[in-house]
Amino acid sequence: MVAMFFIIDDDHQDMLGEYTSLDFGLAELYRLAGIPYDEDPNRAPCTSWAGCGRAWTLYDDRVGRGVDLRVVATLTTSQSGHEWSVGPDAVPSEVDAIDARARSRRARRIRLAAKHWSADH
Ligand SMILES: [Zn+2]
Repeated sequence: MVAMFFIIDDDHQDMLGEYTSLDFGLAELYRLAGIPYDEDPNRAPCTSWAGCGRAWTLYDDRVGRGVDLRVVATLTTSQSGHEWSVGPDAVPSEVDAIDARARSRRARRIRLAAKHWSADH
């Protein structure tokens, strides 16, 4: 089966994995949300990892890689906490799915930044 979604740490250009469905991709972001910033794979690969973090971004590649990538969601991890962001082009059903994940029990300490995506993030 062809992977249509993938997760990259945009801050370090580090590919985490490829997924065959949006749900699998979101499940992986959800798993990452439960891991401390200083444990793999959330521990940044740079020498300044202690003051750094990850910007795990879930991309929708259904129209073909490199053609029109769509950001579905981002999970940033750092010492000050993890934060979900909904991508600028996320559709309502995706926002609901991300919302549900972000509000779940294990992700309680995560602040939901949905619907307030900023371009300079
Ligand atoms: Zn770094």
